Amino acid sequence: MEVFINVFAFNLFILLMQSYSTSVAAAVTITFNYDLVAFIPMLGVGAAVTALAGQRMGAGDIKPEEQFSEKLSSIGKPDMIGVTSGMTYWYPGLFKTIEIIREIFQNVPIILGGNYATFCYDHAVKYSGADIVFKGRDELRLLQVISELSNFELLTPNSELRTDDLTYPAFDLYPQLDYISILTSRGCPFHCSYCATPILTGEFSRKDPFKVVEEIKYWTTRYSIQNIAFYDDALLIKPSEHIIPILRELMRRGIRCNFHTPNGLHIREIDRQLADLLFQSQFKTIRLGFETSNQVAQIETGGKVDNQEFKNSVKNLKRAGYSGEEIGVYIMVGLPGQRVGEVKESIAFVREQGAKPIIVEYSPIPGTPMFEKAKQMSKFNLEDEPLFHNNSILPCQWDGFTLADFKRLKENIRDETL
Ligand code: SF4
Repeated sequence: MEVFINVFAFNLFILLMQSYSTSVAAAVTITFNYDLVAFIPMLGVGAAVTALAGQRMGAGDIKPEEQFSEKLSSIGKPDMIGVTSGMTYWYPGLFKTIEIIREIFQNVPIILGGNYATFCYDHAVKYSGADIVFKGRDELRLLQVISELSNFELLTPNSELRTDDLTYPAFDLYPQLDYISILTSRGCPFHCSYCATPILTGEFSRKDPFKVVEEIKYWTTRYSIQNIAFYDDALLIKPSEHIIPILRELMRRGIRCNFHTPNGLHIREIDRQLADLLFQSQFKTIRLGFETSNQVAQIETGGKVDNQEFKNSVKNLKRAGYSGEEIGVYIMVGLPGQRVGEVKESIAFVREQGAKPIIVEYSPIPGTPMFEKAKQMSKFNLEDEPLFHNNSILPCQWDGFTLADFKRLKENIRDETL
């Protein structure tokens, strides 16, 4: 699940650019895929959206294409333009973005990166119109590309890029700043078969906990930010090495704000101590990445949690002070070969523990182990047409889980009649 709100590999490039010098940052003008900005303002805010076009566009756009053109026309000609991409099936918006950029900045090289560019590389090379399509998270190679294009030396023989070296996203360039997101790590030590994170982010790495505290302090003191969303894929892993020192230090320094975890948390790490700490530290939105109560499916998809661990964590969270309504539990629907009955059982199981089930639809992601199974099961051509990855069409629908089943399920869960 966490993949849906994952940090984009390409976004890191923008942070890296800004971590060099202002001249380098200025030399590399970054635009952001406007369909992300227009429809999902929080998505990917861990990095790129902060760089240039995103902040300039603002919110509430009625005609995003026109506004995007206007904003681009108001800036000077850049040396190159980086465009990131989100979900694979959003590529039409991305292509339109590139088309608009081309109209305004002819002959300026466009580099495309991000999720779609990584997962559908051949498609992107063939159809996107970008000059360079960048796959994956190899920032050093990307720096080399930028160096070549800009004639600006960005690399030394000892160049090494660490998560700790990344600068803060430039959220302050937003016309209005009510909340921010934060990313304290990259990747995840698990390898769930449906998840893109292991492909996108490579090795699991984290920032120094005290640097995270400094970052939170910066936003809460300088910009009076009261709400911060953690977008990590694995925020709670080995809590004594990361989240616990962060939260203790925040408390020690009296830094208070509301925290949210829209990305699913790792359930098995939530023992009594951590549940108490989350509650005391004002974690307001708790989302647990459970996905299914079916034990066979749990093991087959990667074994990140079992039912007993889930029961324990909900118990600990409630004991700490959370209400059932505050404990949102993600349940994945539409996995290849999944029966509607399995989802109903999972929902019932979550409710029995006194938590709130939230269904999320599976989107097949090329390169993941589950994609092969999805291709076999799906009546759509998932291999050649990324539009069919769109979770809303239930790409892996079959007799055991039809689109009608899915619609009924959604209505029932909304009405709590399930
Ligand atoms: S636990 Fe699994 S689903 Fe969550 S981020 Fe890690 S690999 Fe992805």
